Amino acid sequence: MDFRLTEEQEFFKKIVADAVDRIIVPKSQEIDEKDEFPWEVWREFTKLGYLGLRYPEDVGGMNADKIMCMSFYEEIARGSVGFAQSVIMNILMGTYFLYRFGSDGIKERCLYPAMKGEKVATMCFTEDQSGSDLGATRTTAMRDGEGWRLNGTKMWITNGPICDFCTVLATTDASKGLKGLNFFLVEKGTPGFSAGQIIHKLGCRGTVTGELVFDDVWVPYENLLGDEPGKGVAYVGDILDEVRLMTGAMALGIARGAYAEALEFARKRMAFGQFIGKYQLIREKFAEMDTLMNAARLMVYYGSWLLENGMDSRTIAAEAKMYATEACLKVVDELTRIYGANAFAYEYLPQRFFRDARFLLYGGGTHEVLKDFIGRTIIGKL
Ligand SMILES: Cc1cc2nc3c(=O)[nH]c(=O)nc-3n(C[C@H](O)[C@H](O)[C@H](O)COP(=O)(O)OP(=O)(O)OC[C@H]3O[C@@H](n4cnc5c(N)ncnc54)[C@H](O)[C@@H]3O)c2cc1C
Repeated sequence: MDFRLTEEQEFFKKIVADAVDRIIVPKSQEIDEKDEFPWEVWREFTKLGYLGLRYPEDVGGMNADKIMCMSFYEEIARGSVGFAQSVIMNILMGTYFLYRFGSDGIKERCLYPAMKGEKVATMCFTEDQSGSDLGATRTTAMRDGEGWRLNGTKMWITNGPICDFCTVLATTDASKGLKGLNFFLVEKGTPGFSAGQIIHKLGCRGTVTGELVFDDVWVPYENLLGDEPGKGVAYVGDILDEVRLMTGAMALGIARGAYAEALEFARKRMAFGQFIGKYQLIREKFAEMDTLMNAARLMVYYGSWLLENGMDSRTIAAEAKMYATEACLKVVDELTRIYGANAFAYEYLPQRFFRDARFLLYGGGTHEVLKDFIGRTIIGKL
């Protein structure tokens, strides 16, 4: 076994970390406090070309392997989770179906500009009555002439209020449940398509999240993203491991940021005449945090290596997402204890890490749903 990064992976991780430290970290508190989309940071960061991270060079991408992608997600989440979420949406779920199924025209209009940061992308699964349970999707897409007519409302959409286009999950036949689901492209300016209510969030502030409304929206036939009607859920299955590992990598990034803050504090804060880092009970916290982070890192990168090499990563991806998130929640919790009362003040970092980490619980599968999935995979059909 060789756990070392290649020279290329090592170099990539370093230049991403430098860019995050230079462009994002100095703005991270402001991004959180203002809770507005940071267009200036977006423009400066996206011109570095990272939005094409996972796509091949012949379409203008970076052709990064899965290890490099995870390093990127980890580093950017360390800088600002709110900003990271918007960026990662353009890189992964917001453009995945366009790259895989889009016509040349769709790629020219939407995918390539999104890979340069000139357009903002998003992906819409969630509705007020369907989150984990995609089979309960109520948004409909009905054949109408040479195209499709969409009706419904999506909730909790990252980048939703500012998106230039979105990939929307809709049913073409509600009686078929999961087998009636398909993805459709809808572009800004299409009559009937509008942004609704903005959601004011506990954490991940700075990325704009909200409702998207589809009121008799007509799109041409080619906007069905997929070969055959009814295969939408199967297509999601093809990208799910990557999404789960990505969430685990983000968890590692937040945990690293929180851990660094805790370490700095423990080394300089005095209590009862000595640095608090000298107390065994504080050292124990670092021993636990470090162990959790190392275990999470092994799971995330081992899963990514399996995925990169075309091996079965389904169980480990779900486990890595869940474990890294729980590890991150523990680390941010310990940070708030080590930091004392200042952890409770808005002017210091711990409260932001504490709020941001909670969001990891939902995307990529809630932990109840993931445990059920892992258990079913292990036990198999009875
Ligand atoms: C910051 C943020 C950004 C988001 N961005 C997007 C986005 O861009 N696009 C998008 O489509 N969605 C987005 N979401 C929504 C997210 O994907 C959903 O929150 C997630 O799918 C869970 O759905 P839910 O919140 O409706 O919870 P539910 O699925 O309703 O779950 C509620 C509770 O029931 C439990 N539960 C559900 N099913 C089972 C089961 N089978 N067994 C045991 N327990 C179960 C869950 O674990 C949870 O505890 C975002 C959410 C957040 C917080």
